[in-house]
Amino acid sequence: MDLNELYRTVIMDNYKNPKNRGLVHTDDYHFVHLNNPSCGDNMNVEVKIENGKIVDVKQEASGCSISMSSASVMTDVLIGKTVEEAKKIINDFYEMVMGKDDIDDEALGEAIAYMGVRSFPARIKCATLAWKAIEKGIDEVINSEK
Ligand code: ZN
Repeated sequence: MDLNELYRTVIMDNYKNPKNRGLVHTDDYHFVHLNNPSCGDNMNVEVKIENGKIVDVKQEASGCSISMSSASVMTDVLIGKTVEEAKKIINDFYEMVMGKDDIDDEALGEAIAYMGVRSFPARIKCATLAWKAIEKGIDEVINSEK
């Protein structure tokens, strides 16, 4: 499967069957909202962190297929990771969509498909929105524990 095909397949699969969709609104989950005015994407993410590990992530995204599918993929890739592992993966994801080739494909899993947005610079904000939201959530939880 070439990259363009992978890109389309991952986006369509996760757009049609989003993973971890639906917020729980309980105190053990930290909520973050972000939006992307240039496309009209709205991102709602909840993260549950226990003992330095991301034990669960929920998402409720609306907008374009790239932002919505990326939210689904993000939850799948980051659940079960430690905070340190997650921060590295998030950073690798940003670098990958910006054009860096030397990245850890294995840790990125299905998210590797978003390498395809390099060809569409206007969509980079769509692809990274969910990752910016979880990054903000992780930072807020960690800072509140200090
Ligand atoms: Zn978008």
